[in-house]
Amino acid sequence: MLSILKDGFKELSLGFTDEAARKFQLYYDYLTQRNTVMNLTAINGEADTARLHFLDCAALCNIYPFSGKSVIDIGTGAGFPGLPLKITEPSIELCLLDGTKKRVDFLQETCQILDFPDVRCLYERAENAAVDIGGSFDVAVSRAVARLNILCELCLPFVHVGGVFIAMKGPNCEEELLEASNAISILGGGGAKIEKYQIPETDIIHSAVVIKKLRPTPPVYPRNFGQIKKQPL
Ligand code: SAM
Repeated sequence: MLSILKDGFKELSLGFTDEAARKFQLYYDYLTQRNTVMNLTAINGEADTARLHFLDCAALCNIYPFSGKSVIDIGTGAGFPGLPLKITEPSIELCLLDGTKKRVDFLQETCQILDFPDVRCLYERAENAAVDIGGSFDVAVSRAVARLNILCELCLPFVHVGGVFIAMKGPNCEEELLEASNAISILGGGGAKIEKYQIPETDIIHSAVVIKKLRPTPPVYPRNFGQIKKQPL
């Protein structure tokens, strides 16, 4: 796994320190161990985990300058993309949020193993957490949680004006972005751009949709999840 990561980081022109190598290995070992008794990831094995989880997430560092930023990962599951970002760019102030208790317990244990005492692991639904910590992050990130029109209502409220929301998507997300244009505008976003990237050590193309926060989100959003799903903006 470490040789794939080393080559992948080289391809991304990102530094790969001994400390990062050690932490990715510890993360992989604990993820694999816990995945035998709980549902954390369908991606198995060192090579696929290195490419499809770790390098896919680390590639975001070439799309946005994360250094020193406060970042919230909405629906982080087993820690993606948040933890690979933190290992790659340790200066970020990271909050991992998920609505499933068992996964948040796993994240807390993982943060202890990785010696990340400053990473906040929050067991809450995004639409409820936004009431307390909305508007307080430079960046919100999210991968594999919902279609973009729904995801925008879960994520944009967390970002302050001047920050960004980055949604990780598959190769073809133009139609999804079009479908979300009304939601983006209502929620205070704008200037959306799709950045395509190749996952290093693969021929897979993924997209990062980068949406700027231009105005505060009106306080009626996010609505409860039933409404968000039934009547997406
Ligand atoms: N982001 C991870 C990844 O890319 O591997 C996990 C993706 S998993 C398919 C979706 C995760 O989003 C689950 O862990 C689920 O509990 C969480 N989730 C879905 N809706 C949520 C919400 N409204 N608030 C918080 N977490 C949510």
